[in-house]
Amino acid sequence: MRTLVLSDLHANLTALEASLKAAHGKWDRIVCLGDVVGYGPDPNEVASRIRELGAVTIRGNHDKAVAELMATDDFNPVAKMAVDWTRAQLSNENLDWLAALPQGPLETDGLMLVHGAVQDEDEYVFTPSQALEGLLDSTVQVTFYGHTHHQGGFAYLDSQLEVLQLRPRTNELHCALQIEAVKRYLLNPGSVGQPRDGDPRAGFAIADLDNHAIEFWRVAYDITQVQSRMRSARLPEPLAHRLTLGR
Ligand code: ZN
Repeated sequence: MRTLVLSDLHANLTALEASLKAAHGKWDRIVCLGDVVGYGPDPNEVASRIRELGAVTIRGNHDKAVAELMATDDFNPVAKMAVDWTRAQLSNENLDWLAALPQGPLETDGLMLVHGAVQDEDEYVFTPSQALEGLLDSTVQVTFYGHTHHQGGFAYLDSQLEVLQLRPRTNELHCALQIEAVKRYLLNPGSVGQPRDGDPRAGFAIADLDNHAIEFWRVAYDITQVQSRMRSARLPEPLAHRLTLGR
C-alpha cells in the first residue's frame, strides 16, 4: 500500500492541486499532518478537498487556533491576522470539521502521524535531540511529522542519530529513501502550501512500507496566482512574498 503524506497545506489550493496532479495514480490512501488552513487564500476549498479525499487528518496549531481551541497569544501579528481572516471565511461545516480533528500522535496502518513532535503536538522539531526524544517514544518504525515546513528527517540506530538529506534537487521531482529494518525514522514530508526550506516548490511524500521505500517530492506550481488571490483578500504582504522565496 502506498500512502500519500501531506502536511502544512495552509489554504493553498493551487499548490495542493499541483501536488495531487503529480501524485495521480501513485497512491492508495492519503494522510494529512495538519495545518490544513491558515496563511493562504483558500481555506474552504482546501478543507473541502481534503475531506472529499477522505484523508486521515490530525490537527495542526493553525487548525486549532482557527477553531478557537488555542489562544493566538504566541502567534506573530501576521499569523494572528491570517487566523482571524480564515475564521471569518470558513463555512460552519468546515469549522466544525477542523474543530473535531484528532490530536497526534495517531497511528494508522503502520505509520505514526504527529503535527509537531511525538511528545508535544505544538513543538518544532529542528534538532537531533528533539528528534531523538520522539524516536524513542514512538511505537512504530516510521513516524511522520510536520510543523517546521522543512522536508527531511532523522534515522536512529544503536543510540546514533543520523540527519537525513531528503530533498530532491532543483531539476528533480523526487528522491527516495530506502527504509532499513534495523532503523527507526522520523520524517517530514515538507509543506504543500508554504515551504520554508529554501525550495518554493510544494513538498510531500509517498510512503511504500511494503517495498521499504519513501519518496520525497517537490512540485512547482503557479505561485503568482496564489499571491494575487492573497492580495485581493488583503492578507498580509509578507505571507504572499515568502511563497516566492520558499522561506
Ligand atoms: Zn504549518
